[in-house]
Parts: sequence; structure tokens; C-alpha cells
Amino acid sequence: MAAALALPARNARAADVDVIVIGAGAAGLAAAHDLKAAGRKAIVLEARDRVGGRAFTDASLGPSYDAGAMFIHWAERNPWVRIARELGIETRNESWGGGFQVFASGKPMPEADRQRRRGAFGQIDRRLDAADLSRRDLSIRDLLSDLGPDVSPIASSGLLLSIGEESDRISARDYQRLWAGDDLVVPSGYGNLVARHGAGLDIRLNQPVSAIRWDGPDVAVTTPAGTLHANACIVTVPVGVLKAGTIRFTPALPSRTRNALDGLGMGALTKIALKVEGERFGIAPGTSFLEAGSPSRLMNFDMFPEGKDLVIAYCGGDYARELSVAGPEAARAHVTELLTQMVGADIGKAVTEMAFPAWWTDPFSRGSYSVCLPGRAAAREQLAEPIGGRIFIAGEATAGGGAMTVGGATLAGRTAAAAVARIKA
Ligand SMILES: Cc1cc2nc3c(=O)[nH]c(=O)nc-3n(C[C@H](O)[C@H](O)[C@H](O)COP(=O)(O)OP(=O)(O)OC[C@H]3O[C@@H](n4cnc5c(N)ncnc54)[C@H](O)[C@@H]3O)c2cc1C
Repeated sequence: MAAALALPARNARAADVDVIVIGAGAAGLAAAHDLKAAGRKAIVLEARDRVGGRAFTDASLGPSYDAGAMFIHWAERNPWVRIARELGIETRNESWGGGFQVFASGKPMPEADRQRRRGAFGQIDRRLDAADLSRRDLSIRDLLSDLGPDVSPIASSGLLLSIGEESDRISARDYQRLWAGDDLVVPSGYGNLVARHGAGLDIRLNQPVSAIRWDGPDVAVTTPAGTLHANACIVTVPVGVLKAGTIRFTPALPSRTRNALDGLGMGALTKIALKVEGERFGIAPGTSFLEAGSPSRLMNFDMFPEGKDLVIAYCGGDYARELSVAGPEAARAHVTELLTQMVGADIGKAVTEMAFPAWWTDPFSRGSYSVCLPGRAAAREQLAEPIGGRIFIAGEATAGGGAMTVGGATLAGRTAAAAVARIKA
């Protein structure tokens, strides 16, 4: 009886807004722009005090660096090349001018070991080129298992710095379909570019969504500021946030959506930025130092990129999770120690500040980007299936071959906007 009484009141209620987009990252911005262009009224609710999500140019140390996304991947078809051009923002090829040095436990890696590493690398691509995975799926670790316990971990270790995840948790089939192409960088910051793209949209910052109700004639979205009703809702929060249950759905998400979320994890690619002022210690700006003594604990250092007073350390997988949980001081001590072993004690003393965007422990990302678990390569498409005809999950996780990227998130946001545009306002 109570439900019967409640229904006419809710039916009579006009929506507060036509469409609510949750999240002002690349996917949310793309959706909001396309809805606006289609004449629909959309607002974007964003939990953080800034726009851009996992695309974030951090200037907290003075010189800026991209704490999240840095590369415009597969530039040939990436919408951000055009967006940057339209905004008059420069993009260019990455110049790896400074070279690359490999270390093992702080000492230059012996040539024989380097050769073994080089031989192991490329195995994944060779295997994937040869494997027919259209009817089966397996983990990258299993794909490489016949290389043996000495070579297989080395062959897959590079994935820690690209996918940010351990090889036994990556679907080979999903990995095989990821798009490839040229990479560009944005000298003024990819995060800054994405944030600029938010101009002109109705974005409400500091609005963490805690609940979505979708059993009535509309969608009710709750933040600390209250509850708004809309005709449709596009949810672009990261998979890690959805899995953590930060947003309570009523009724609960359909079993197909929950099942899709079970098939996805979040990688943990993590950057730790150190400010090192003045002195260069004889190192050419732009050189990369890789500590590769243990294949499961790779740490790459971009030394003084573009001549800036910065050293950017990055790592992935369980190693990055450990450091994220240990916290900024422990992480600073750890990377400073690694740097000291490779370069000498003086560089350790020259570190004046650090910034640690720990995406893994960040409540609004809970990881770097989505990774399909072995055997679960259909999860991305399944996650994108509309819920109740009114809720659309979009973001890098639903971007198919474009997954894990800003460009993919943008395309996924556009797809969701097109689906919403087909619903009557
Ligand atoms: C270290 C690192 C390096 C990367 N490198 C690259 C790269 O070089 N190239 C590349 O293309 N991609 C890269 N990526 C991935 C890229 O950043 C993401 O794929 C992309 O930014 C995701 O966009 P999105 O819109 O799907 O999600 P997000 O950018 O995460 O946007 C979702 C938004 O939802 C908000 N939100 C979360 N919870 C709530 C809530 N409860 N209520 C309201 N809002 C909420 C978040 O704050 C966020 O702003 C990298 C990521 C990381 C972390």
C-alpha cells in the first residue's frame, strides 16, 4: 500500500534536471559536451574539487608533471589530438633524448643480464601475434609459462609499468585487442588539457554521489547537497569506485552488471615525484633509469624530464599497492634510497619535496585503470549494458580496445551520450 501511495507522487514529479553525469573525467566531459550539443540539459556531479579525474597535471612541487595520464595513445584516432588543436594547445612526439640505463640493486646491470632481458622482452607480443584467442582466454602469465620460471617473470615484468598489474591477473584476450599506435605528449600537461575541455559545462565540484535510486519513473541521485531527480544518468566513476560500493544503488545493480564488475580489477600504476633542485649529477635531462634487480619490483625513474627540477619514479602491481598503503613518507624514503644507490648519496640529500598521487588508495579512483581478469574479456561490453533503460555506465573500462586510456574514456562517454539522446527528455 505504501508503494502504491508513493508512486503517483513520484510520477507527478518533474525531473530536476534532464541528465545527470557522475564524474568530471574524460568520459563525463565527453558525455556532457555531446548532450549539450544535442540540446539536452546535463549537469556533471564531481566528487573532487577539480575537473579531469585520472588526467591530472600536478603543479604542487612548482614544476608541473602529469600525475595520471601523460600520453595521447594511438594518436592516429585519438579524439584528444583534435580537441587540443581546437583549443590551440601544443601536442608533440615524446623525445626520449636522454637514453636509458638499467640497474640491478643499484649497480649497472651486467651486459649478459641485459641481453637476457632484451631476449625475454617482446615475447608477449610474439605470443599474442601467434595465438588464436577468439575462443579461449588465459592469463598473460599462462601464455608465457613455457618460457620457464627464470624467463617468464622477466618477459612479463614490463606490464607492471604499462598495465600496472601482475601478469596472472591480466586477460591475454583483452590485452590482445588493445589499440596500438603513435604516442604524443602535451607539453603543458595532459591533465591541464582535459581540465580546459570542461569549460562551458555545468559542473558541480565537491559533490560525491553516495546513492542512486532507479526503481521509480526517474533516477534519484544523492550527494551531501541533497537528492536530484533526472530522466537518465551516466555513471563514469572508475570501476574501483563501483566495486568498493561507495555508491549505494537501490535496487542493487543487476546481476549482469555485478558479474561484469567481478571480471574487472584495477591496476596500480603509481608515480612518486621528487623535487631535486639545481644539481643534475652529470645526468642528461630526460634519461630514464630503471631499477630491475627484481622483476616483480621494477621502478623506473624519469630523470629531470624536459630539464625540470623533478625526478618521477613510477611502478605498478603489488609493489605499487604496498607503497601506496605504506604512505607518502615511507614511499619517499624508499624511492630516495633506490635513487641514492644508483646515483650516489648526494642526490638523496638534494631531494627537497615529494608528491605522491596514490591512485590505489584514492577513494575516487581506487586504482590506475581497469584490467580484465583472465577468462573475463567480455566484462567491458557487459558493464556498458544499460541499466533499467536509464542508467549508463561509461568510462575507460567500457572502451573496448581503447580501454585504460583518456581517449577511450572519451569515446565511451560519447557512446553513452548517444544512447541517452535516444531517450525522450
Ligand atoms: C598513473 C596513471 C598513468 C596513466 N597514463 C595514461 C596515459 O599515459 N595515457 C592515457 O590515455 N591514459 C593513462 N592513464 C589512464 C587515464 O588516466 C584514464 O583511463 C582516464 O583518465 C579515465 O577517464 P574516466 O573519465 O573513465 O575516469 P576518471 O578520469 O577517473 O573520471 C571519473 C571521475 O569520477 C569522479 N568520482 C569518483 N567517485 C565519485 C563519486 N562518488 N561521486 C562523484 N564523482 C566521483 C572522480 O573524481 C573522477 O573525476 C593513466 C592513469 C594513471 C592513474
